[in-house]
Amino acid sequence: MKPVIALVGRPNVGKSTLFNRMTKSRDAIVADFAGLTRDRHYGQGRQGKHEYIVIDTGGFEPDATSGIFKEMAKQTRQAVAEADVVLFVVDVRLGLSAQDHEIAGYLRRLGKPAMLVGNKAEGMKDGGQLAEFYELGLGEVFPVSAAHGQGIRTMIDMALEKLPWLNQDEDAEPEEDESVIKLAVAGRPNVGKSTLINTWLGEERLVAFDMAGTTRDAIAVPFEKSGQKFQLIDTAGLRRKGRVFEAIEKFSVVKTLQAIEGANVVLLLLDATQGVTDQDAHIAGYILESGRAVVLAVNKWDALDDYGRQMLERSIELRLSFLKFAPLHFISAKKRQGLGPLWTSMTQAHKSALCKMPTPVLTRVLLESVQYQTPKKIGPYRPKLRYAHQGGMNPPVIVIHGNSLEHITDAYKRFLEGRFRKEFNLIGTPLRIEFKTSH
Ligand code: GDP
Ligand code: GDP
Repeated sequence: MKPVIALVGRPNVGKSTLFNRMTKSRDAIVADFAGLTRDRHYGQGRQGKHEYIVIDTGGFEPDATSGIFKEMAKQTRQAVAEADVVLFVVDVRLGLSAQDHEIAGYLRRLGKPAMLVGNKAEGMKDGGQLAEFYELGLGEVFPVSAAHGQGIRTMIDMALEKLPWLNQDEDAEPEEDESVIKLAVAGRPNVGKSTLINTWLGEERLVAFDMAGTTRDAIAVPFEKSGQKFQLIDTAGLRRKGRVFEAIEKFSVVKTLQAIEGANVVLLLLDATQGVTDQDAHIAGYILESGRAVVLAVNKWDALDDYGRQMLERSIELRLSFLKFAPLHFISAKKRQGLGPLWTSMTQAHKSALCKMPTPVLTRVLLESVQYQTPKKIGPYRPKLRYAHQGGMNPPVIVIHGNSLEHITDAYKRFLEGRFRKEFNLIGTPLRIEFKTSH
């Protein structure tokens, strides 16, 4: 399980700047997709072998209007509750404030691992300014500069060191069985997640099988469908009760993120009767950001008339355009309609994510594409594409080598993506194309 780091502190100390620093590695995938909601409070990052989730409480400031931090705002409290370690950010240029004392008091009472981070410390000659922060009773303040990227790596290491379980867990983890597709059913409350899962587990006579490391009451449910093994992973917002799943009242983005991260394939459910909501778009954005294979299903299709269906298809096209690569299904979990093709898509998506693309084939497709349509000349530059190789899997990355490649247009990149997708029959996985120009 990935550790969760929450950033708290009063407004303007630099939390969102720090958030961006800590989640930078992940932005690469997302940058390629236009139309993705970028209003993020939750992000993912990686340092060395450790991946983590970061929550920025910047958007939900503790009672910013009255200036009183007596009780942290509900959202912030929830973020802190969900965190494994809290980074309390202060502004070393402005010094201590009453608000800082109140936040510190709150964190001390909570007794959760916390670290005091002094931001805006670039160019500070001595530690004199830092001394006053001892008063907060949270130990030494660790100086960083979020804006200039100073001290961030060490800060993350120190934060993760507060979680002794991190390294132990890894050794204990059983070998992964790659033939099993780990499946997360994601979606906001009431879209029909538990109905669908219970339909699967109850009516479709899925064969349960024994798998090392799963216990009877674990959430993970292994089953087999048409010869393919699946494992339903701890699905956000659901709890297992005996043989059936039940929705729990509180929706948690962190749980959703952890479920997505633990999966190979994510089935994102939408509710036909509600259209595409902001929350749907957010969850879709997190899935995209994770790079996981994804299949979309609009549930409660039975409840719409033809006009409603048309409207909905249109709004999916518009609002979830960044998930165009995901197969789209229209289903009714309750009436058991349209469920069969889901399995085919989920299996295909998994296969696509792990697709191996040999250099000769990639290069052939590349050169054929160029022959079919040469990239436009931009000013004096005409990009020259020479060869391609695979730079990664899950999601697949294709690296294209050549000259003047910085002048490749987005439209041309999409054209290439389409050609590669067709050649390798890639369905339901993001595909990332990178250009490497040699001079
Ligand atoms: P938040 O309200 O806590 O999320 O703070 P922001 O991240 O929005 O930053 C508030 C202001 O502080 C912005 O103008 C940032 O550019 C600035 N800032 C953030 N980090 C640093 C830093 O390391 N040094 C300096 N000098 N300014 C910073
Ligand atoms: P969850 O919170 O995502 O697990 O959603 P539930 O499975 O609890 O379903 C929420 C509500 O939607 C329940 O009242 C279900 O009966 C209803 N529902 C689920 N699937 C369908 C469907 O295919 N069609 C219709 N009309 N209602 C459904």
